Amino acid sequence: MPPILLAVDKIYPKGLMWFRRDLRIDDNAALYHALRACRQVVCVFVFDRAILDPLPRVDRRVEFIRESLVELDAELRRLGGGLIVRHAVAEEEIAQLARSLDVQAVFANRDDEPAALARDAQVLGALANAGVAFHTYKDQAIFERDELLTKTGQPYTVFTPYKRAWLATVDAFYLKPYPSRGYADALVAPPDALRMPVPTLQDIGFAPSNLAQLDIPTGAQGGAALFDDFFQRIDRYQAARDYPAVRGPSYLGVHLRFGTVSIRQMAGVAHQLSLQGDSGAATWLGELVWRDFYFQVLSHHPQVAAGKSFRPAYDKIVWHHGKHADALFDAWCQGRTGYPLVDAAMLQIQQSGYMHNRLRMVVASFLCKDLGLDWRRGEAYFAEHLNDFELSSNNGGWQWASSSGCDAQPYFRIFNPVTQSERFDPEGKFIRRYLPQLAGLSNAEIHAPWTARPLELQAAGVTLGENYPKPVIDHAEARERTLQRYAVVRSGATGAPPK
Ligand code: FAD
Repeated sequence: MPPILLAVDKIYPKGLMWFRRDLRIDDNAALYHALRACRQVVCVFVFDRAILDPLPRVDRRVEFIRESLVELDAELRRLGGGLIVRHAVAEEEIAQLARSLDVQAVFANRDDEPAALARDAQVLGALANAGVAFHTYKDQAIFERDELLTKTGQPYTVFTPYKRAWLATVDAFYLKPYPSRGYADALVAPPDALRMPVPTLQDIGFAPSNLAQLDIPTGAQGGAALFDDFFQRIDRYQAARDYPAVRGPSYLGVHLRFGTVSIRQMAGVAHQLSLQGDSGAATWLGELVWRDFYFQVLSHHPQVAAGKSFRPAYDKIVWHHGKHADALFDAWCQGRTGYPLVDAAMLQIQQSGYMHNRLRMVVASFLCKDLGLDWRRGEAYFAEHLNDFELSSNNGGWQWASSSGCDAQPYFRIFNPVTQSERFDPEGKFIRRYLPQLAGLSNAEIHAPWTARPLELQAAGVTLGENYPKPVIDHAEARERTLQRYAVVRSGATGAPPK
């Protein structure tokens, strides 16, 4: 465990605040502690080449971060400070900066993803060699690591008792905001040689995405605006959240990912409202608890991020592979499966980097239980495309859908993509938004165009196999193959791969 520093006033002449996935000033744990503990605080963000170099050159998240940094830098400057932004390998850069700025301590918020832990261990060592302290703080979760354990001291592996314990333990102490702004007089501007504008996307080797055309406001101001909007309709969340055509969810995922909103503020408001009987707020709070739940699953079982099933028996499953499997995977990625709800969802993520939660469950189930493909292929695709990609929740979501995970759905529960569509997009509004070529079909036919009569297809201008694909598999047959495929988790046998 890194040393815990309680807010002790001005024990260091100078400190460095290292922003990572916490791009805000208000209620920022590490910034608050840095401002209290140091007479002077310099701020830095590193575009980490270790993370960025392997990414495709167009990435909405890099642009989201860049736009958020512009706002953060402007606000820090207004308060008398400013942001040093580097494009370098963070592992090396932080210790070098600490030396050249002559600071006695570096402050950062914790990130428990395995790669981030390894990076921070390196940074800790390099800083220690230079005689500089490294203080890290909980900021992205309400409860982290070992804070919430069962009565026997074990990590929870079932969500409902975890949530019960979470709700019984949470109180003002855990939700209290850190009043960082109150100590802002310790902020100092970076030295002239390091005081430059935030680099452009081109400077760091990226090209602009379509982020600016999407309804995704960036930075802490964008996060606050989204939250204000959601706050007006939070009471309807429970009723609206499952319908992808409706503005039901908060769309705050990307802001929670990059810390442009504070989880304490979000959970605090939701908790308060739920105590007053707001069932929408209580349901939304439950989703934030899922987020904490998956953080702690990853923290206690880091092997899940290294391609392992949470339940080892599920690694015996032999997934469909080879050329035909690759073609099915391409059809899934490109929204050409012939199942309209699945295809519309895949076009949503492709065009916007967002996918509605109900649809994430539908397309994930479709990938592993209809197409028979390894869930890790879908997990990797989501990791590359989701604006709100969170390793722990993404892995948790995929392992839930494939039944291999912690508190996952049973393997024999297989979503029917047509009935899901009829139930959650009954008028086909969401489908029509992404698949305009199907717009002329009736509300009854749009969920499964191959069941429409030829005359109806003709009247709607739909030619299956031409302007919309025929279904790549038959759901009923796929269901039977999946039950055979998963038999191995029951019997312990090795199981021949069904064709
Ligand atoms: P809201 O419904 O407004 O929820 C608010 C917040 O609660 C979310 O932003 C998120 O932080 C949290 N949350 C909601 N549902 C879940 C959940 N099931 N598990 C964990 N946290 C949750 N969520 C991610 O944040 N990143 C991911 O990479 C991710 N990948 C997923 C992959 C699959 C296969 C599935 C089934 C779910 C995944 N989720 C992921 C969970 C969920 O789909 C998204 O959090 C949600 O759709 C984000 O939209 P929102 O912010 O509008 O959500």
